[in-house]
Amino acid sequence: MKLSVVIPCYKEQDVLATLHDRLTRVCARFEPYEIVLVDDGSPDATWERIRQLSEKDDHIVGVRLSRNHGHQVALSAALEQAVGNRIVVMDADLQDPPELLPAMMEMMDQGAEVVYGQRRRRAGESRFKLASAHVFYRVLRSLSDVDIPEDTGDFRMISRRVVDLLATMPERHRYVRGMVSWLGFDQRPLLYDRDPRFAGQSQYPLSKMLRLAFDGITSFSIKPLRVASILAFVLASIAICGLLFILVGWWLQKPVQGWASLAVTVLFLGAMQLFVLGIIGEYLGRLFIESKGRPLYLVADRTGGHSSQAVVGPPAATYAQ
Ligand code: UDP
Ligand code: MG
Repeated sequence: MKLSVVIPCYKEQDVLATLHDRLTRVCARFEPYEIVLVDDGSPDATWERIRQLSEKDDHIVGVRLSRNHGHQVALSAALEQAVGNRIVVMDADLQDPPELLPAMMEMMDQGAEVVYGQRRRRAGESRFKLASAHVFYRVLRSLSDVDIPEDTGDFRMISRRVVDLLATMPERHRYVRGMVSWLGFDQRPLLYDRDPRFAGQSQYPLSKMLRLAFDGITSFSIKPLRVASILAFVLASIAICGLLFILVGWWLQKPVQGWASLAVTVLFLGAMQLFVLGIIGEYLGRLFIESKGRPLYLVADRTGGHSSQAVVGPPAATYAQ
């Protein structure tokens, strides 16, 4: 198999037909290829559509997860199903144009192991989304020791070797684009303009975006844990200045007054302590969930393609069928 295109789908019933058309037109020159569609437990007709497509077209492999496991897990599931020598990761909503595949193929021919789409412009996104994404990518970069490129989503082409290595990383809080960067090898950017979503709605409300951001930061950096020490140092310095101020006042027989300032100080210190506890809690919670070692996802149904093929994947992955 020359090429696998893997796509996680959640509530994408209105997109699939157009997605299939556009992909087929592009992929035709890369026979043999497969399109792996993973339905992430959508409540709408997404699975029905995938099944219909797989009946019409042998290139389609459909996998349905047992419930909604989230974009990054669905994407990991899709990657484990893919058997191609090169694997393209895309969103279902056609924000990432399939027409870029030939350019990616060419860069891979020239020796790249990963070609990632880097956004030059994002059409049809709210100002808030643009600003928050901008801040997040830069915060992550400054906190993390891994060189995770800015303005880069999951849209990328990856070699078989790198996908196999990715499959050996069993962590549950997955930030796939960061994990691919962590692996290293020859990774090259392909600049492109991101289109607006073709149909349906973004499945990334603020809460999910924040969770992904926390996963990204906690998976790739323990620097936030050092906030406690830094704060302690800063607050101790302020306390020493305060002490000097009080001593001088006492010396000059002008004692400092003020319950209000005392109350504010106590509240501020309480808030700082809770903030640091919160950060420790984030890491501890992740450790707890990781330690349970539950399967990453469960498969409820399959359709099309090589359904009987042996499944390769990290030890954490278990399949119901
Ligand atoms: N998605 C998924 N599970 C989810 C949410 C999203 O598989 O719980 C898929 C969705 O179908 C799409 C991709 O992940 O293919 C990206 O989601 P979306 O387009 O909503 O995110 P955005 O592009 O707005 O960040
Ligand atoms: Mg999208």
